[in-house]
Amino acid sequence: MRTIRGFRVLIEGLAGAPFAAGSRSPFFCQKPDTMNAPENFLTDLPAFDNSFAALPEAFYTRLNPQPLSKPHVVAVSDEVADTLGLPAALLDSPLFAEIFAGNRLMPGSEPLAAVYSGHQFGVWAGQLGDGRAHLLGGLRNELGHWEIQLKGAGRTPYSRGADGRAVLRSSIREFLCSEAMAGLGVPTTRALCIIGAEQAVRREEIETAAVVARVAPGFVRFGSFEHWASRNRPLELQQLADYVIDTFRPECRAEANPYDALLRDVSRRTGELMAHWMAVGFMHGVMNTDNMSILGLTLDYGPFGFMEAFDAGHICNHSDHQGRYTYRNQPHVGQWNLYRLADAFLPLLVDPAAARAAVDETYGDAFALTFERLMCAKLGLREALPDDETFIGETFGFLQEHRPDFTLFFRALSKLSCSTAESKAGATVNPENRPKTENALRDLFVDRAACDVWLDGWRARQAQTPWPDAERQASMLAANPKYVLRNWLAEAAIRKAKHGDFSEVRRLLACLRRPYDEQPEFENYAALPPDWANGLEVSCSS
Ligand code: AMP
Ligand code: MG
Repeated sequence: MRTIRGFRVLIEGLAGAPFAAGSRSPFFCQKPDTMNAPENFLTDLPAFDNSFAALPEAFYTRLNPQPLSKPHVVAVSDEVADTLGLPAALLDSPLFAEIFAGNRLMPGSEPLAAVYSGHQFGVWAGQLGDGRAHLLGGLRNELGHWEIQLKGAGRTPYSRGADGRAVLRSSIREFLCSEAMAGLGVPTTRALCIIGAEQAVRREEIETAAVVARVAPGFVRFGSFEHWASRNRPLELQQLADYVIDTFRPECRAEANPYDALLRDVSRRTGELMAHWMAVGFMHGVMNTDNMSILGLTLDYGPFGFMEAFDAGHICNHSDHQGRYTYRNQPHVGQWNLYRLADAFLPLLVDPAAARAAVDETYGDAFALTFERLMCAKLGLREALPDDETFIGETFGFLQEHRPDFTLFFRALSKLSCSTAESKAGATVNPENRPKTENALRDLFVDRAACDVWLDGWRARQAQTPWPDAERQASMLAANPKYVLRNWLAEAAIRKAKHGDFSEVRRLLACLRRPYDEQPEFENYAALPPDWANGLEVSCSS
């Protein structure tokens, strides 16, 4: 069995930092606000199937979103609208903004805010919950079951003194990144739309309110289980586990202990998710257990980042003072979070040792196998060889030393030839003889000689499992995105949107939905960050 140590080798030389303590937020309960009763204004909507609302009332508080005056549509993901089967008439109607701002309810929706707890920055934070999220309900169609949740639609009993709102800035980031991750092929919650409004919201400065309509099969978190375990409520713990199994993982029922099977499923999917994040250079920024999806989806986009100049110790969240959630720590934090979930599962398992075993016997392997597979695809290795783990580890060490842009490095590599003539040229000691086609890659390095040495090593590895150039290049281009949501791209779109111009948000959405395709009209989105973006910082403020 490969343990978590096995993939430390893969990111060799990038040893993780110790976890640091964080602070816990105060908890206040407030009375929910209500709004007018729903109207039956549309009859051809898909039928609601509110499975979460069928759980006992202890799991949530039923309450309506708080209206936002004069809501307007900032952007819509047509793909998510199609997935939900929303009628075209609704998309074109002014009711669309009203519904997804939370001002009107679709017939059949039963809004609620769910309760959960969690560990934040490694410290038990007690009860949290949907402080600014309202689950409207679930829709079922031939593609599956989709829950729709409004983020930023006002206070709930779990708001803990905060305003229940989200600002336009963070809503644009969540919307674009959800759809970008889906385009990249990374498991994620989706986003249907952003609805903006003029209502002022106080953060470091005064901003305006927005609501993101999120869509996922389910929004249950690790912290949803921790909540009941911490309160010594085994009945609710089991009800929640039964709900997740029956709704999402019915195959677990057939196992000797369905709860053990569920824990293993979550652990495996979380390992796979971490591998996907690492392979696209995604850093979540706030991997608290309340932000970890029980379905293995990327959840709660806040101060995330995509790796640019490679640095495994990069801290993308300005509020993460100790660097708990750096790129290199993510696989370890994923495991730490799973141990917290395993602790919560203890009452459901006969043997206490089984909880940790469920994680240990699945997570490391799932991460390592997926990470190796994704890295082999990125490096264009036709088939894996026993030494590839070492080669991948050395490649990360090389990236760490020379810090090229992570996305551009692999994209440029995808276009290179390994044909005999070029390989021979690559083997010469005279850099003048290097093929011109290598320039895009070599230009990412100050020390081009170091790049040449690595390239020669890569070609030598290619020679062990030869693959015709055209086939390998096509495969690599499908594994190495050209476009990721760089902070400067999001920031440029946000700055325009603050002035009422949403064109850049919509253009970025169009581009990021197809990140592996050459899209000449979006060439500037694949550029290195401009000088003005040097000091950009993102924090938990949202
Ligand atoms: P996050 O850091 O966004 O994952 O949020 C952590 C917790 O704080 C969750 O329970 C959120 O619902 C809650 N929260 C964050 N921002 C707000 C806000 N503006 N109003 C109410 N609750 C919030
Ligand atoms: Mg959260």
